Amino acid sequence: MKDTPYRGRFAPSPSGNLHFGSLVAAIASYCQAKSHEGVWLLRIEDLDPPRAIPGADLAIIKELTRFNMVSDEPVIYQSHELQQHDYFKALEYLIDNKHCYPCLCTRKMLIQHDIYPNTCQNNLFPCTQEHAIKIKAPDQDFVFIDKIQGTQSQNIQKQCGDFNIRRKDGLICYQLAVVIDDAKQGITEVVRGIDILDSTGRQIFLQQTLNLTTPVYAHFPVLTYANGNKLSKQNHAKEIYGEDSYELTRMALQVLGQEPPKLTIKNQGHMLRWGIENWDIKKVPSVKEVTFDSETRLD
Ligand SMILES: [Zn+2]
Repeated sequence: MKDTPYRGRFAPSPSGNLHFGSLVAAIASYCQAKSHEGVWLLRIEDLDPPRAIPGADLAIIKELTRFNMVSDEPVIYQSHELQQHDYFKALEYLIDNKHCYPCLCTRKMLIQHDIYPNTCQNNLFPCTQEHAIKIKAPDQDFVFIDKIQGTQSQNIQKQCGDFNIRRKDGLICYQLAVVIDDAKQGITEVVRGIDILDSTGRQIFLQQTLNLTTPVYAHFPVLTYANGNKLSKQNHAKEIYGEDSYELTRMALQVLGQEPPKLTIKNQGHMLRWGIENWDIKKVPSVKEVTFDSETRLD
C-alpha cells in the first residue's frame, strides 16, 4: 500500500513583507514537501483583519514566486467566507457537545494568571453579554514525536488551562482556525518554527475533539541575532525584497543545517533544486535557537 501523498504548507500572516526568518520557514517546508514529491500549499493567515496590511498577501506571493516557490493549489485565506463558515461550524459542534463555555473575564483580569483560573467554567450558553468562548482543557499529556525536536509531551491544563477559541470581538482564534485549515487542506506534515511548538498540544487536543487527523509535526529553531533578539517582524527584521535571492536561499539552507555548496553559477533555482535534492530534515539543528550571523546585510 502506498503511503498517503505528502501535503505540506507555509502559512504566513500578511502583517508585513517576508523577512529572512519567514524565508527560512518557507524554504524548510518547501524542501521537505518537494523532497517527498509532495504538494506544497500556501495559506494566508489573516484571521485578524486590523493587523493585516493591505496588499501584503500579494507581495508575499510575488516574493515567494521570485524564490521559485509557488503554491500547488489555490491559495486560501483565513478571512474568506468559506473558511470562516467551517470555523463557525466547528465552534457550533464544540458548543453543542458541551466542550465550551462563555468567558466574561476582561484582559485585565486574565493578565495576572499564566493558567486560566476557571472563573467562568460554570457559565452556560446562551449568554447575553459580550463574551469570549473558552474550551475546557483536559488534564492529560499529549505526546507526539516531533521530527526535529524529538518526543514532546504537553499538558494543556498545566500549560495554560482552558483557552479561547473565539475572541470577545467575535474573531475565531488561531488554534481553532489552524486545525480546521490543516484538516481541510489535507496537510500530512506541518513544518514550522519552534515558536509554535507550545501550541501543538492544544492543536492535537482540538483535532481529537473534532475527530480530525493529526499531522506529523516538525519544528525548526528560531533565528536570533547575536544579541539574543529573535529575528521577527516585531524586531524589525529587514525585508528580503530586492535582496539577492541566490545568496538568501543558500543562507537559509545553511541555517537549516544543510551545508549547501557555493555554486559556480549563482542561480537561485539551482540552489533551491540542490536544497530539495539534498534535503535531510535530520540535519536541521534540534535546538531552540540558532544565532544568525547576517554578514551585516540583513541586519
Ligand atoms: Zn472567564
